[in-house]
Amino acid sequence: MTKKRVYEVARELGVSSKEVLEALGELGMTGLRAVSTLSDEDAQLLQEFFREKGAPVVEAPPAPEPPPPPKPKGVPRPPVVAVLGHIDHGKTTLLDTIRKTRVAAGEAGGITQSIGAYQATFHGRAITFIDTPGHRAFTAMRARGAQITDIAVLVVAADDGVMAQTMEAIDHIKAAGVPMIVAINKMDKPGANKDRVVQDLAKLGFTPEEWGGSTIMVPLSALTGQGVDDLLEMILLVADMEGFSGDPDGELEAMVIESSLDPARGPLATVIVKNGTLRERDAIVVGSAYGRIRALLDHRGERLPAAPPGTPALVLGLSAVPPAGERVERVADPTEARRIAEARERAAVEARRGTRSPRTFEDLLQAAQTKKLVVVLKAATAGGLEAARHELGNLKADGVELEILHAGIGPVTESDVLLASAEQDMQPLIVGYAVRVEGKAARLAEARGVPVRTYDIIYDLALDVERALKRLLGPELREVKVGEAEVLKTFDIDGVGRVAGCSVRSGRVVRGAKVRAYRNGEEVFVGEIASLKRFADDVREVQAGRECGIRIRDWNSVQPGDVLEIYTVEEVPA
Ligand code: GDP
Repeated sequence: MTKKRVYEVARELGVSSKEVLEALGELGMTGLRAVSTLSDEDAQLLQEFFREKGAPVVEAPPAPEPPPPPKPKGVPRPPVVAVLGHIDHGKTTLLDTIRKTRVAAGEAGGITQSIGAYQATFHGRAITFIDTPGHRAFTAMRARGAQITDIAVLVVAADDGVMAQTMEAIDHIKAAGVPMIVAINKMDKPGANKDRVVQDLAKLGFTPEEWGGSTIMVPLSALTGQGVDDLLEMILLVADMEGFSGDPDGELEAMVIESSLDPARGPLATVIVKNGTLRERDAIVVGSAYGRIRALLDHRGERLPAAPPGTPALVLGLSAVPPAGERVERVADPTEARRIAEARERAAVEARRGTRSPRTFEDLLQAAQTKKLVVVLKAATAGGLEAARHELGNLKADGVELEILHAGIGPVTESDVLLASAEQDMQPLIVGYAVRVEGKAARLAEARGVPVRTYDIIYDLALDVERALKRLLGPELREVKVGEAEVLKTFDIDGVGRVAGCSVRSGRVVRGAKVRAYRNGEEVFVGEIASLKRFADDVREVQAGRECGIRIRDWNSVQPGDVLEIYTVEEVPA
């Protein structure tokens, strides 16, 4: 009896794998995947199911007009895939194999250059792969706030299992919130042990579909190519389920994934378009680089007049080399592009010159709104890491959440800083227990404004993180009464407003202090002293027993007999 895979049956029926899986569910066969095999009988059953489903539509009486499907924002576009995993587990080999087998050769015959991304074709559908593997590149692209990757493929070698960088990669994928597919690689090796990989991942909370979980795992060999098609199939399945789309006529949304300076061609930037269409001759601004696109090239080095959503393209004609992760904006003309880019450059210079450290009050408020502290934790040993994690787990501050974005063994690296700095609006913090900070990491942290601290004593580490948590709550504010005054007379002054002539009953009146006005014992206004005069002179404060003129900001209905309570607001350190 021949057996067919779910996706093969789907292809024969002319429907998607997802529809077949749904149909199987209705037929009582759950827990199957697109790569699962079906018996002839089951395939037959499916054919009947779809035939029945299709048939009545023709003969049935005109059904009531079905509600229009929610209008998609655009048309389906190729998914953008990144490959992550531990060193030597086969990321590069996998990308090479897919490129060799699934990238159509161009007119020039084969691939002339690597531009940092390529587009593979499988069953007539395109998949865009980012050609720089690893979580460092993955997060560097994300660090500027935009998300370019749609699907992450985590490569785990079956002869080695889940390793330190595998766990790091998982944390980077989780932080990015993109769907993950596990490629269990090197299945051709004699020492390959798929079950161990599955068990390791299950311990981390990723259960495969065959165990009733939701993590897609595909055993394969990047070297021999066996199983690679299954991976591509799964990528398309996830893409169908997620419904990635883009509007070729919509607003341009595009991002740099790699850039370099070519001695002959000048600054080069590989851009992936997510929405809209990038065209040759477009005037663009990319951070503080600008220009009119002289040429767009595809992954085979051939001219590409237009890059629609999901397409990578090499951009020629920029004034400077933009960093990875920078957004591409289209403007009216090159003059406009230059003006914007130069203004940005000036602003960047100003910012570098100015002080960065004291965050403004607004920053603090913003942080208080997110009420979340994200921490990257590094320690020298597994024991140290567990102990530190435990200490942090015990910390509590009402209304604030602590999230350990990543916990790993070893020094603080550039990759840690990138991961943390991708969470800028959350107030990221990197803490190390008995580890050092690599020089490059320290410089990057400085440039990105990410605090990094290391400790030799776990208690100090926990204490500092607790302080940071409490700081997020914002300071507690307390009113301190400083004096009381009674309004004797009022004067309306043109262009200024109403001034209250007062006698200070107790304490003192201070310019700029807060004021609460009472009329017949009832509070009628709360505000701030805008100006304070004694005779004609502006004064800082007036003591009890004296008279003064008070103008209250935004309040012109103060009356004789009103009692003004004067107070200040002080911060009580958390
Ligand atoms: P990366 O560091 O994750 O990019 O790993 P590479 O792709 O450079 O692979 C590391 C080594 O593993 C190389 O010697 C590859 O030839 C080998 N390798 C990768 N995939 C496979 C595989 O599926 N089977 C076998 N036997 N070797 C593989």
